[in-house]
Amino acid sequence: MARTRTQNVHAAQWSPNGGSLGTTDLTAPGAQIFGSNVFSPIVQRQRLPKAVHKRLQQCLETGKPLDAELADAVASAMKEWAMEKGATHFTHWFQPLTGSTAEKHDSFFAPTGDGTAIADFSGKELIQGEPDASSFPTGGIRQTFEARGYTAWDPTSPAFILENPNGALLCIPTAFASWTGEALDTKIPLLRSMDALSKSAVAALKLLGDDDCARVFTTVGPEQEYFLIDERYYFERPDLVTTGRTLFGAKPPKGHELDDHYFGSIPERVLAFMLEAEQELAKLGVPIKTRHNEVAPAQYEVAPIFENTNVGVDHQQLTMQVLQNVARRYGLVCLIHEKPFAGVNGSGKHNNWSMGTDRGGNLLDPGDTPHENLVFLFFCTAVIAAVNSHQALLRASVASSGQDHRLGANEAPPAIISIFLGAELEKVYEAIETGSGDAATPQSYLGLGTSVLPRLPLHGGDRNRTSPFAFTGNKFEFRAAGSSQSLGLPNTVLNTIAAEAIDEMRKGVEARVQDGASVEEAVLAAVKQAWTANKAIVFNGDGYSEEWHAEAEGRGLKNLRTTPDALPALVDEQTVEVFSAYDVLSERELESRYEVLVEQYATSLNIEAETAAQIARTQLLPAAVQHLARLNAAGSSTGLDALKQEVTTLIDAFVQAIHTLEERNAGHPPGADALAEATYMRDEVVPAMDAVREVADRLERIVSDDLWPLPKYSEILFIK
Ligand code: ADP
Ligand code: MG
Repeated sequence: MARTRTQNVHAAQWSPNGGSLGTTDLTAPGAQIFGSNVFSPIVQRQRLPKAVHKRLQQCLETGKPLDAELADAVASAMKEWAMEKGATHFTHWFQPLTGSTAEKHDSFFAPTGDGTAIADFSGKELIQGEPDASSFPTGGIRQTFEARGYTAWDPTSPAFILENPNGALLCIPTAFASWTGEALDTKIPLLRSMDALSKSAVAALKLLGDDDCARVFTTVGPEQEYFLIDERYYFERPDLVTTGRTLFGAKPPKGHELDDHYFGSIPERVLAFMLEAEQELAKLGVPIKTRHNEVAPAQYEVAPIFENTNVGVDHQQLTMQVLQNVARRYGLVCLIHEKPFAGVNGSGKHNNWSMGTDRGGNLLDPGDTPHENLVFLFFCTAVIAAVNSHQALLRASVASSGQDHRLGANEAPPAIISIFLGAELEKVYEAIETGSGDAATPQSYLGLGTSVLPRLPLHGGDRNRTSPFAFTGNKFEFRAAGSSQSLGLPNTVLNTIAAEAIDEMRKGVEARVQDGASVEEAVLAAVKQAWTANKAIVFNGDGYSEEWHAEAEGRGLKNLRTTPDALPALVDEQTVEVFSAYDVLSERELESRYEVLVEQYATSLNIEAETAAQIARTQLLPAAVQHLARLNAAGSSTGLDALKQEVTTLIDAFVQAIHTLEERNAGHPPGADALAEATYMRDEVVPAMDAVREVADRLERIVSDDLWPLPKYSEILFIK
């Protein structure tokens, strides 16, 4: 008898507030909850002696390291606060190159020798940890004989407490480096890139007449898409458990054609999950603002209010973690893979990105005054130039095996990087370029010696979902990031290439001012020049269309469809140059990231292939054979014989396809380098996997439902 799969599961048993596992009081008013588990600047002010607080602030502002005495004082206050909140352990919470987060827990308690223990947590322990780095990918930076890695406290991202029903953990956001000082994580380069961008932007603002700005921050507001499915289905799908996506599954009779999910109300159990997840995130200081259904059935989205990029990226990691933890309290599993279900929309993560000044201004906000508009045009143009010059690098920053199902496959957005500006803003640029325009365009205000800019049009509400990089009113939205991805690398890239383009623009303006132009004239001339040189990247049409692919090629834009195509841009000459010029990543650090990503790609495909072969052989093939046995036992007739023939033919094809998959997955090219290995996986193993799936999905449609061992899409996606 075949293993019976869950039939007709209705919403699993769940109790409000997630039963016994929930730690959140869902009735507590939001204001009291928000940030209650964060050692925030306010808590620091309350808890630290005045002099200590002041010295800490000075260190944070100037970026100077803390001395031992100051560190001890901060550690002591932090420990006291954490223990009052029930914390027994602390961890240096860091983000290795795996793309997720890592923790090693240490107890606050130290034995005293007389059989008792005291709570101890020194400044040294706060500032530095020394985890064994050997279990984290380093892309060749760390040899085994230098296995030590160092974690160093990042005081610009506040410490927080992760609750568990049986205790609590103080998490100290940290950077992770090798003993030679090379970054082994995603945080260090991100912080360096923020410094680089700040320097460039402050210098540019000074030239534009803004002398008071001391620091420019980049901001990020990531929109996270995910699927929620019943955990009973999840555990009956070894492919989901092992690889995060279904390797088999015929398209359901009903997809998202009816749009009933997107516009529908949120199911009760799902809403209960969302409310609790948001409360948990609120305690951690993650400012969640919106939630809604997404296009695909069982797909949802959550988005916070934007924050400083360093904090926002940390919070994004926490968001993924909390979503997955809280889902389980409701008998659900949260899938953050880019493509859990073939034939159904995948999940992305929109990286909303802008630059803000220390006085709260947004440099990508057109604003109300001519001066604000000038600043806007300057920075917006720099971003356009940066994206055009480094298209391939941006594409590489979001490459992974999961992403290959979306970017190269005409699913939002395409692998070709282009920028959507909206018709109005594009008109402004065209007017600046041609120096002429009618009354309907801003150019009528620009010519004839007056360089006063008009009020620039605000976001026209145009929503081009097919653009990978869209201007949306007061920010750019980098939409090509994957749902499971850390946003560390994409933002590091954005900040660094923007810094370079800002410097280039500034130099152009400076040269013109030296030649006697006014700042306004000089900016407009520099904008015009950069626009003309980079406008090929701007495209307002349908990014999925065949015509665009042809046109993009004509424009010389890159179309790097798969991960092995895209990743080499991480280490090409242009990339190495910009990253070293801005001290963000050395060539060795870049190479290490490249190696890790290439290896991750090959490894995850290898695991997928093995899982697919195993499921096919041990679950699906036996079901098909049993189905055939039933047909054989049913006797003979024209109809029955035709059915038997159909099944037999498919079984033969299936066995053949499984053999091919097994052979290819075992037969790696000898002595191949990492990229050749990745390319082999893409060209030989993935098609073999697809071939197995194709037959399996046909079998799924004809094998008796009670024999089919895997829950079907129609169940997984529609039972909420
Ligand atoms: P959408 O129409 O795409 O939903 P929203 O205005 O709701 O646009 O914003 C989406 C995301 O963009 C939110 O996470 C929001 O915080 C973020 N966002 C808004 N302004 C900025 C900014 N200046 N910098 C970075 N992210 C921003
Ligand atoms: Mg969006």
